[in-house]
Amino acid sequence: MRPTGKLHLGNYMGALANWVKLQDQYECYFFIADWHALTTDYADPSRIKLNTLDVALDWLAAGLDPERSTIFIQSHVLQHAELNLLLGMMTPLGWLERVPTYKEQQENLSSKDLTNFGFLGYPVLMASDILLYQAQYVPVGQDQSAHVELTRETARRFNSMYKTSVFPEPDALFTPSPKLTGTDGRKMSKSYGNTIGLTEAPLIAASKIHNMSTGGQRVRQSDPGDPDLCPVGDLHKVFSSPEVIAEMQKGCRTASMRCEFCKIDAARSVCAITDPIHSKRMQLESEIEKTWEMLCDQSAKAAARAEQTMVPVRAVLNLSRDLGSVKRYFKESTEDRHRAHDLSQVSSWWDLPQDQRSREVRDYWKSNLLPREVQLTQESNRVFTSLDRELEEPFLSAKKKRVFVTTARNAEDAEAWAFEIPAKSYEVWTLLCWNKSGYWLHDFPIPQKYYAQAFAQAKKQLKKEEKIPLTVRKAGDRFLLSIHGSEPVDITELQSNYGPLE
Ligand code: SF4
Repeated sequence: MRPTGKLHLGNYMGALANWVKLQDQYECYFFIADWHALTTDYADPSRIKLNTLDVALDWLAAGLDPERSTIFIQSHVLQHAELNLLLGMMTPLGWLERVPTYKEQQENLSSKDLTNFGFLGYPVLMASDILLYQAQYVPVGQDQSAHVELTRETARRFNSMYKTSVFPEPDALFTPSPKLTGTDGRKMSKSYGNTIGLTEAPLIAASKIHNMSTGGQRVRQSDPGDPDLCPVGDLHKVFSSPEVIAEMQKGCRTASMRCEFCKIDAARSVCAITDPIHSKRMQLESEIEKTWEMLCDQSAKAAARAEQTMVPVRAVLNLSRDLGSVKRYFKESTEDRHRAHDLSQVSSWWDLPQDQRSREVRDYWKSNLLPREVQLTQESNRVFTSLDRELEEPFLSAKKKRVFVTTARNAEDAEAWAFEIPAKSYEVWTLLCWNKSGYWLHDFPIPQKYYAQAFAQAKKQLKKEEKIPLTVRKAGDRFLLSIHGSEPVDITELQSNYGPLE
């Protein structure tokens, strides 16, 4: 929620009352979006902190509970800005210009200059706010569904571009938002000056209700009215008991109840809910440091959770803070290079599903064994939705050779490795042989001349869409490659020989 100061009944019924209930069912994160406020109010930040506290006090008074939920201030958790920056790198401008509220807000807030970068990019910040906590659900009104959709698209794009699953795609959890008109009959909004405050003193709330418009109903008290067309009727529907509503409707339609008594009943119903919230706020205001301290502590807690997400995000973008495998480019000994073939250091992979494990092995080979002078790039910039297909996406060498890198499909046999190669033309295969018994990675970059003939023959024999099976077998100290049952070829000399890839 943006810090716009004290909340009114519309904010309460449209969001907060529902959030209070959600605390019983979910692990919830609620934050005051002070950076979002700056996207439109950058020219005058003077009230941001005051407004932030006002929102926090109203939240606590209404029942958000720091014992059960995490309640924090966005700008205290720097990871929101970091993720916003990173996601901004990969968000197409068109996505932002399409967000319906972008144009709408620019028109509605015509007194402000909203041609700024921050305002155009606020949906990215919003996506970051959600994805940072790997949220499953976002409680929003219907008007916010475009933002959740953009968040889902962002998660999908990031996951598939970097072949990861860091971000779950969140679902919108639509909150019921009953119609609540302001005292003048228009939508309740601070900018119209027609609000009834959530924590307003009961007397003030009652007098506002007393002066409320009836939407043109019952100008003469002897006329019957339609409570569905009267803002006071709306208040009853949201706050009164079924008995009071029935009495009001009958009294209004038959002109047997005067409007002033109807309004007294409405005020009574509203105050039954807001009275305790008002008193709680009074008490909280008397010890404001406590609330501030709580917000600071909770922000630190949120930051710790956010960091759990940022660690893998930085890793996939190659921004992690450890030196990692890059150090081998600077002072690698033959012994280091030899040791890098030992996969027992990552033995936890063997419990992963096969495709995921294959990806890990392939990535490991690329970042731990491939020498610096060999540059392999992904052939296309296409974004794949199915992670499976990416394994078939070849790399391109510096000389634009198509290089297919693949891992053995079986992990049990210590002497033989099975592969499947799509029936497409690649100029180099790199076969990664590993097994559970030795955890040793043998890598064979194989130029086309070693396999072209047998591969062409196998393609002829098999159906077009079928993958070509091949095996690498260990015979003594030799390694033999056989394609779909063809005569074996000795590939021993090709082991860790990166010449074909340069
Ligand atoms: S009786 Fe109540 S609902 Fe009907 S017009 Fe008067 S104030 Fe509105």
